[in-house]
Amino acid sequence: MIEEDAALRNGSRGLSGQWADAVGVRPRTTERHITVHKRLVLGFAISILALLVVTMIAVLLSVRFEECSTAAAADSPARASGNGSLPGAARLNHDAGEPPGRQEEAPGEEEEWQRRRQPPPWTQLRLPRHLRPLHYNLMLSAFMENFTFCGEVNVQIECLNASRYIVLHAHRVHIEAVQVAEDKLSGAVRVSSFFLYPPNQVFVVVLNRSLEAQRSYNLKIIYSALIENELLGFFRSSYVLHGERRFLGVTQFSPTHARKAFPCFDEPIYKATFKISIKHQATYLSLSNMPVETSVFEEDGWVTDHFSQTPLMSTYYLAWAVCNFTYRETTTKNGVVVRLYARPDAIRRGSGDYALNITRRLIEFYEDYFKVPYSLPKLDLLAVPKHPYAAMENWGLSVFVEQRILLDPSISSISYLLDVTMVIVHELCHQWFGDLVTPVWWEDVWLKEGFAHYFEFVGTDYLYPGWNMEKQRFLTDVLHEVMLLDGLASSHPVSQEVQRATDIDRVFDWIAYKKGAALIRMLANFMGHSVFQMGLQDYLTIHKYGNAARNDLWNTLSEALKKVGKFVNIQEVMDQWTLQMGYPVITIMRNETAGNIVGISQEHFIYDIDAKTTDPDPGSNSYLWQIPLTIAVGNTSHISSEAIIWVSNKSEHHRIAALDETSWLLGNINQTGYFRVNYDIRNWRLLIDQLMRNHEVISVSNRAGLIDDAFNLARAGYLPQNIPLEIIRYLSEEKDFLPWHAASRALYPLDKLLDRTENYNIFNEYILKQVATMYLKLGWPTNNLNRSLVQAAYQHEELRREVIMLACSFGNKHCHQQAATLISDWISSNRNRIPLNVRDVVYCTGVSLMDEDVWEFIWMKFHSTTAVSEKKILLEALTCSDDRNLLNRLLNLSLNSEVVLDQDAIDVIIHVARNPHGRDLAWKFFREKWKILNARYGEALFMNSKLISGVTEFLNTEEELNELKNFIKSYKEGAASSFSRAVETVEANVRWQMLYKEELFQWLRKSLTH
Ligand SMILES: [Zn+2]
Repeated sequence: MIEEDAALRNGSRGLSGQWADAVGVRPRTTERHITVHKRLVLGFAISILALLVVTMIAVLLSVRFEECSTAAAADSPARASGNGSLPGAARLNHDAGEPPGRQEEAPGEEEEWQRRRQPPPWTQLRLPRHLRPLHYNLMLSAFMENFTFCGEVNVQIECLNASRYIVLHAHRVHIEAVQVAEDKLSGAVRVSSFFLYPPNQVFVVVLNRSLEAQRSYNLKIIYSALIENELLGFFRSSYVLHGERRFLGVTQFSPTHARKAFPCFDEPIYKATFKISIKHQATYLSLSNMPVETSVFEEDGWVTDHFSQTPLMSTYYLAWAVCNFTYRETTTKNGVVVRLYARPDAIRRGSGDYALNITRRLIEFYEDYFKVPYSLPKLDLLAVPKHPYAAMENWGLSVFVEQRILLDPSISSISYLLDVTMVIVHELCHQWFGDLVTPVWWEDVWLKEGFAHYFEFVGTDYLYPGWNMEKQRFLTDVLHEVMLLDGLASSHPVSQEVQRATDIDRVFDWIAYKKGAALIRMLANFMGHSVFQMGLQDYLTIHKYGNAARNDLWNTLSEALKKVGKFVNIQEVMDQWTLQMGYPVITIMRNETAGNIVGISQEHFIYDIDAKTTDPDPGSNSYLWQIPLTIAVGNTSHISSEAIIWVSNKSEHHRIAALDETSWLLGNINQTGYFRVNYDIRNWRLLIDQLMRNHEVISVSNRAGLIDDAFNLARAGYLPQNIPLEIIRYLSEEKDFLPWHAASRALYPLDKLLDRTENYNIFNEYILKQVATMYLKLGWPTNNLNRSLVQAAYQHEELRREVIMLACSFGNKHCHQQAATLISDWISSNRNRIPLNVRDVVYCTGVSLMDEDVWEFIWMKFHSTTAVSEKKILLEALTCSDDRNLLNRLLNLSLNSEVVLDQDAIDVIIHVARNPHGRDLAWKFFREKWKILNARYGEALFMNSKLISGVTEFLNTEEELNELKNFIKSYKEGAASSFSRAVETVEANVRWQMLYKEELFQWLRKSLTH
């Protein structure tokens, strides 16, 4: 009844050709559908003959179609038999590639809005607020043999303000029929027309009369779409088992791709309940957020799984999968069933057991920490061969790319184990932060991502108490890392307004994750961890099954502080950190005349001082922060710390007790604050002296912090170039991993600035000298570690690995020999006896030093190994070659998806760019293939920005800077913010070369001759 009208109107503009195609190959057998055809044919003036011919072809092919629409007519999902194929689905009216336009709008609608002098509701970037979904009934039939699916969605919607329009999201789906009925009175509301509006990825239903406020309605939509070959929406992926290619279908909806799988109100604020049914061939199984309630088997080899209803949730973490995986399971003490699903061979090998085991423990940890039980009866972890991200936290059905969840203990290094662990801890945290309590809108995505990232460290500490992740590793992996990015003038605030779907991807960057986590850590530290934890418990309890914005969090935390008698307006403090980009550098200057008075000033830290002047918002009051500064005073034997000093002015004076001539000052105790600290040179000298005499007076985290601050302050020109190089001299006595790790990371960009200069060997020699003592002391690991040993020896093994890495990459002869011997032994015996924890270093060193046969050997091993962790490091080792032909060959092979997984191709290109012999090759390759790369990764979060920064960050000549600028000019579209970051970084590199390179070399020459 409705469909005919609507179909006619829908088809009457522009799309008639596509509609005709779609209709032509989808002959129907019922009288009702023949009527549709006739009217369409008349309406479009397409000859009846054509229809007859197509119908005849289909009849000849004996294709029987009873799609979701048949079921709709019968109102029974069980009747939706999908044994026929869906050849027409390939010709759906995809809007991808079409110019944005109004060609699909219903006639007359726009004119009416023009008369009203209002923009039509579907042209707004956000959904109009007059409707709210309450419940979705979603019935899907998945056709894995031709990668199509069709669905019927019934949305119960509540009308808040009267309107004739229903606007919801839909993208790349083919809408076949629409029906609207009043919920209780069962009266149909006549649909006047419906159309897709691709620019905003919405679907509009125009009704003959208004929906009335305070009433609820049922919107039924029948549609079909492709199970896409790209990694978003409902997509397919494959793997090889016993020589046979097998396929699976899985979803990735975050942030805005649910609309590609079903028409829905695809904004996080529209929480609703969902009841999903999936029909598939019985050779597959299906999964979704909730457990299967009933399965209905049919004679023709099809089965329909009906899942239990979800609690209130947003669309972006809804999920389903159709696969033929197997699983192992465990149960938490509160009865949550945890299963790990993966390809059968991986399950059989036990590669999922580690993940399964820690997941059970982590659910128990979070339940205890948050005092809120896990919300669903089960949690499935799904390991898929291909995924755009490491993982996605879908509630009850979290999806992981295999490399981030499968782990074979006999061939995995500690860092691989750490990677797997932290990804799981992260996704599990989201079951609370994100799924149970969801940000109101994407501007505050850092709320969920910052928390999940912070908890990676807290949760890992629970699993491995001796590792001190939150106190130590957080610094190098999060704080130091993000301060590099956030020190650019082209950075942005952690909360940033976004509207367009295409811009939403942008907010998922390291600033959201890492700065978010760093700010949360600073907050936890100045609040005190137990009050902070109490505040989080309240926040989750108050907002569970709902949405919350950052102010909701600030208010709850302020209340928590009040309960313990402290009065801090958290919102006032945190707004400065979340709404302003960047971070301050605090300078602590001793007042030489007035004993214990120090001057403390703050300014916006920025690498390229020239870039500061181009700031669009210069004269404003911004770039002041309320800084919780902690200061310690120390001398040769002891250290005393002061309480928090809140610094909120540009410059202030403070009296520091116990400060005398010989004592030094140290700011930001344990580096809990998100800022850098600089001192007068005399104080730097006192600190260096202290490190050389007895470094243990200063905490491990502050030793790492001093190294990172010094290198970066020097890079930005706040400090003389020799200070950081003098600091690392004490490392020969340093037995803790973290300061070495901080030094290694801080040296890395400096190394890349110098590695193509003629005096590079002076720098090289200096670093080798600092590494030599510890390299000798620690020696090489043996390969007989078992898991429990690894756990106990984490610090020691990571330190040894770090030192070996530095020694080998800066050319320590013994290190080179050792690597070559190990590789030769592997080749001649065909037994890999290289210790797990240094395999990447050995492979890379071997490839760079030895001849082409080694490269071929590693290439062969890369193809033959099935262990994902091993595959990754073998591939990266291939980028270490000095041979430009091999590097070029590898670059060209990287785009062949059969050889290199899509997500790994980026790593290949980036690693070639890090190699001084390959930097220009990767840069050239990137420019030549940009169109292909952008098409492949453009829509995936992180990928493009990772690629762009990875390829450009170490370009450092005038010529390269010009090439970059010219390249950007010629490709205006897409990735603008990544490119402006790239330009700023390269400009800063060029500037550093010009201003400071000589100063550095002069000091090095002098120091080496002593
Ligand atoms: Zn996350």
